Amino acid sequence: MSEAPEYTLAATALLQDMAFIDMQKLIVDEAAEHEFPIVTNSAESVCCRTPIGDISAINLVSGLRLEIRASMDSAVALLKGGILEHLAETHLEIAEQVRWSDAPEAGGGLPKNFRYATVAGLTQHCKNFMRVTLQVSGLDSFVGEAIHFRLILPPAGLGEPEWPSVAPNGQTQWPKDEKALHRPVYTIRDMNLHTGQIMFDVFLHDGGRVTEWLKANPMGAQVGIMGPGGGGLLQSNRVFLFGDETAFPAIARILENLPHDASGIVVFATGDGSTDYPITAPPGIRLTWHHRETHRSLADIAIDVTHHQTDAFFWFAAEKQQVAHVRSELSAALKIRGQDSYISVYW
Ligand SMILES: Cc1cc2nc3c(=O)[nH]c(=O)nc-3n(C[C@H](O)[C@H](O)[C@H](O)COP(=O)(O)OP(=O)(O)OC[C@H]3O[C@@H](n4cnc5c(N)ncnc54)[C@H](O)[C@@H]3O)c2cc1C
Repeated sequence: MSEAPEYTLAATALLQDMAFIDMQKLIVDEAAEHEFPIVTNSAESVCCRTPIGDISAINLVSGLRLEIRASMDSAVALLKGGILEHLAETHLEIAEQVRWSDAPEAGGGLPKNFRYATVAGLTQHCKNFMRVTLQVSGLDSFVGEAIHFRLILPPAGLGEPEWPSVAPNGQTQWPKDEKALHRPVYTIRDMNLHTGQIMFDVFLHDGGRVTEWLKANPMGAQVGIMGPGGGGLLQSNRVFLFGDETAFPAIARILENLPHDASGIVVFATGDGSTDYPITAPPGIRLTWHHRETHRSLADIAIDVTHHQTDAFFWFAAEKQQVAHVRSELSAALKIRGQDSYISVYW
């Protein structure tokens, strides 16, 4: 079992009407889907370790106790939301009745990991990317390993947007129909805690709602952000990274945080052959730009390279069919070798 992190926050909920084995299955399945490790799994308890905190269930004489442990409010909120969303798929009534020890009177108000933000800068970063700067209050929770967030965009033309709110069970309630919010995930490319600004790079593509929004020059517009979430920076000095444009900002951040003596390879897949997205990497990392219209798929390249070299952290993020191909070809081999990996759908 990996060493337990020292989390400072906890939230628990008693679920007296649910069998422990049902919750155990839910947590184990959820962990498998996201490739999170299960660090305890017995008749007494189950614990899944995510990059931002632990989700556990303890078997009680009558029902079970759900426990969330993390070090930031935003992470607790995210983990509660994640488990409740899955619980609601199979046990809707039980999910609605959940009440958390740290928020017994929850209900109404904005989610804890939601922040209002204002567009404070828009610059063409390179041919296919626009850099967006947001002015945000309360950025402290964005310091650390998690580097992704959700941009919350109201529908175009809506006079008075409706923002998310918290249900009594702690779950985030989203406005529906014509008030539905667009919630794509982005990578924080840079931030300035002093000025309260974050910067992210949007890959401009046909039909994208964020691309359309940017075309209308939204300087000064109010949006929301939620996070941080997901995995983040790598602690490894040998890496194989593969990504399409949506992953360039994440790869850029990972490379900037590697030790100077790190080695490995990066393959960037581009739709039009552009190689101008700014990247700074340690000298031992080989960077390759690959035009996906004229070459093999990124997935096939990653599979080939990784079958022959087994000593690096394997990182792959791209479109979902590419990811499915990589998962089906490599997941088992990586697991058998005990090789660390991150394989994720970005769009
Ligand atoms: C952890 C994570 C981090 C991410 N970081 C970034 C980032 O820093 N920068 C960034 O630009 N993206 C990033 N993405 C990807 C981004 O969330 C998606 O591309 C998202 O769909 C963008 O929303 P949209 O409004 O542009 O497109 P939508 O309006 O949601 O989609 C419209 C259409 O465009 C298609 N589409 C979506 N993305 C692409 C694409 N890249 N190329 C071609 N067609 C596409 C959709 O499938 C759909 O058919 C990240 C995703 C994840 C999961």
